[in-house]
Amino acid sequence: MQLLVPALLALTAVSCLSPARADRAPRESDGMPRADGIPEALPGDTALAELRIGDATVEVTILPGPREVSDADLLEFVRRCATEVADFYGRFPVDRATVQVRPSRRGGYGRARGGDVPSVMYLLDRDDDRPELFGDWVLVHELLHFGCPLLERRHHWFEEGLATYLEPIVRRRAGWISAEDVWGEFRTRMANGLPGEGDRGLDHTPTWGRTYWGGALFCLLADVEIRERTDNASSLRDGLRGIVDAGGSIERSWSMERTLSAADRALGLDVLVPMWEAMRADPHPVDLDALWERLGIRLSGDRVEFDDDAPLAHVRRAIAQ
Ligand SMILES: [Zn+2]
Repeated sequence: MQLLVPALLALTAVSCLSPARADRAPRESDGMPRADGIPEALPGDTALAELRIGDATVEVTILPGPREVSDADLLEFVRRCATEVADFYGRFPVDRATVQVRPSRRGGYGRARGGDVPSVMYLLDRDDDRPELFGDWVLVHELLHFGCPLLERRHHWFEEGLATYLEPIVRRRAGWISAEDVWGEFRTRMANGLPGEGDRGLDHTPTWGRTYWGGALFCLLADVEIRERTDNASSLRDGLRGIVDAGGSIERSWSMERTLSAADRALGLDVLVPMWEAMRADPHPVDLDALWERLGIRLSGDRVEFDDDAPLAHVRRAIAQ
């Protein structure tokens, strides 16, 4: 009976479904992604390797199925993604975790679960080879969820927004994508997070756009404000490290207030809590075009161009260049 307890706790934890983006992005009209019916690890699945990421252990299981990429290349990819996430948060946010890789026809999909031993299930496109692995955003997105406590359902936008905003930034830091990729993505997709007709604020409008991109917009606005107020000395990352340092992670449930307060306390600024109070139950429209202008980001056809004379060009460069 004792052995069943961790499994039961894990099953009761909130799970997160990530939407595919870029060329495989679901349309807004698709609504929120639904549970996919993909089962948990099967009895008899055995871990292929235990990776040490700083003081943390990440157990990796690769399920059978057709694939192009070797075990060694897959393990190296998981190790690099986990290392980049640890580097961002200052440490890997949980002591122990599992990553299950499932070769699949679908690809571009993942799921993070909290609880005693947090887990990520990652659908690997069977045709992906090694270079394509490093072009895939899913695993970094899922691992970034580990640094955010489990929140009430109405605050799901913060969990998803955080991972949506940070994933391209972390992958840029790793050198896997370019600054043009990061800002081009934000410039073309962030508007999905703006309030539409009938919007009741982030806590009360659980659409796909407001959850993923409304949350990402919240994080971008917070990052810009923190950097502006501190002349780039501090950033959203310092606030998020404060959450992890205070013991916040996907291993446990926290209130939104406790989570955002931990970040503000670490920053020594009142940013995240007041922003949440302004945006939680109010549409709070944002002039995105003015923000891009101040950051010096313009679209020219499909390409993004940077203006280094823009008033917040230094902030843009500090976020991703
Ligand atoms: Zn997610």
